[in-house]
Amino acid sequence: MSPEFDLLKPSLNDIMHSLEKFYMVTLMNRDGSILSVNKNLLEISDWTPKRILGKTFWEMFPDTEQAQVQAHSIWNHVASGKNWFGTVEKMTRSNNSYYVNMLAIPLLNTGGALQSVTLLELDITADIELREKLQQIAYIDFETGLMSRHRLEIVVNEEIQSKKHFSFVYLTIDHYYTLKDSHPHEAEKEIIKSFTNRLKRFFQDNPIARVGVNEFVILSPFGEWYVQGFHAFLEQQPIYIDHIALPLTVSGGIVRYPEDQQTFTHLFKAALTTTKEVIENGGGKITSLSADSHKILNRKANIDRKMRTVLEHNQLQVVYQPQFDVALGKINLYEALVRWEDDELGFITPDELIPIAEENGMIHAVGAFVLEQAANLGSEWNDKGHCLHISVNTSVREFTDTRMKQKIIEIIKTTSCPPDQLQLEITEKFAFQAEEEHSIIHQMQELQELGIEFTLDDFGTGYASFRYMQSLPITKIKIDKVFIQSILTQPKTQQLVDGMIRFGKSMGMYIVAEGIETKEQYDLLIEMGVDALQGYYIGRPQKASDIG
Ligand code: C2E
Ligand code: CA
Ligand code: CA
Repeated sequence: MSPEFDLLKPSLNDIMHSLEKFYMVTLMNRDGSILSVNKNLLEISDWTPKRILGKTFWEMFPDTEQAQVQAHSIWNHVASGKNWFGTVEKMTRSNNSYYVNMLAIPLLNTGGALQSVTLLELDITADIELREKLQQIAYIDFETGLMSRHRLEIVVNEEIQSKKHFSFVYLTIDHYYTLKDSHPHEAEKEIIKSFTNRLKRFFQDNPIARVGVNEFVILSPFGEWYVQGFHAFLEQQPIYIDHIALPLTVSGGIVRYPEDQQTFTHLFKAALTTTKEVIENGGGKITSLSADSHKILNRKANIDRKMRTVLEHNQLQVVYQPQFDVALGKINLYEALVRWEDDELGFITPDELIPIAEENGMIHAVGAFVLEQAANLGSEWNDKGHCLHISVNTSVREFTDTRMKQKIIEIIKTTSCPPDQLQLEITEKFAFQAEEEHSIIHQMQELQELGIEFTLDDFGTGYASFRYMQSLPITKIKIDKVFIQSILTQPKTQQLVDGMIRFGKSMGMYIVAEGIETKEQYDLLIEMGVDALQGYYIGRPQKASDIG
């Protein structure tokens, strides 16, 4: 090194000093609680030094699903020991948004565990505002001059607000890629241009958007009879490439607003589903939503909509299904299962409810509700001196929230349910993701240390059941009911279950068999050495008030 370099060599302090001068700096502990921030951050975020301390990483993000999902994914990334860099939207104390380029840096201890996280951020709100303006200009598809998908969404929402009735028509050119590949490269542009031209002529003043390479949406006041006329129009006005008329047909779906679907997303999804059905049946048709898929989509959309108020309206219930412990010779556990009955929609099974809740984010509220009910019951039983455990099903989406552990601890505290009375069931789908994300395993371990046991549910249905026994903190496995159902009729199944029991035991697991419906199944499984049994033969799910 030259002497000059030594003179100029900046000290760590100098570096920190300049960083502090230009960047917003935030230091957090491994749980994401803010320990300190610098002046730049306070200025832009409007927070006072006292109030911001102890707030969490997530609370600095907008309270929307999208932002929270992003915040969690950033945290998971950093918690796994990697830096994260990118643009995020954050909220000031008075709920105004601002945008930053964020560099999140984890500090790990020698054992590789997360110790703290530092954020360096630059305010880029002005740039983003400029970009948004540019995007507005880009609301037009440059190639065709049609609206873009973004613009379409706005227009649909405007039509909905002004209470107009319309058909949402989704059209796609059949065999587009084959068509395009069998012609010279320039033909592609020509096909799209001429096709757009036909659309404009046929649908005239109606809003038309290009939503994919060869996918278009038209909002038309007319119904099926008019839209279907587009086929004849295409035949009469063929598209020529090199003086040869293209054999061009379209497939499409028509969904009516407000009769069929009521939001942009639902209209779009339904029209797409209908189009896919047409294509699967050979294409070349534009049809309305079929009665069957109409029913299914409507039910899904209604469940989605009603779920948002289901908790306020006290419509969710929890029932409990007993589990028989062989060594004790009695029932020692009840599994909590969610129930929802609606006047209009009838009985909504958990298999319908849970996936939709996972999709719309309500799973956190639903899960917390079930857990609270279960913990309350646990505490009640404890007061009465009953030695009964309760297990609760959890969804992976709940654990991607790094506050899940904390939430569970709070529920245990407020209900004063002893932690070792509560158990959690996780499915194989969950196990797979848990293995990928350290923060999930981390949370599971900490809960286990408190006395909460984990069961691997639906055992045997996934690819890696046995591996999860080693990699995750679980002490129990529950052999799925599909195996139990054929255990008496299929010798192979019996061998398989026997293998699961033996291997599980060799790993020190407590083995539960679920879905026992007959005495024969019960006797056989006891003989095979399971530790516990569950199923209609032992008892159906029942209300808490009917237990005991
Ligand atoms: P699971 O955890 O495997 O629950 C067992 C399911 O099998 C329950 O259906 C139960 O009613 C049913 N069952 C119990 N014994 C028998 C039997 O002998 N024969 C037959 N054929 N079925 C039996 P359910 O309540 O419809 O729940 C379905 C799934 O939904 C559950 O499967 C669980 O994965 C999920 N689930 C239920 N409640 C919750 C919840 O609160 N949170 C989450 N995340 N998932 C839940
Ligand atoms: Ca279960
Ligand atoms: Ca199961």
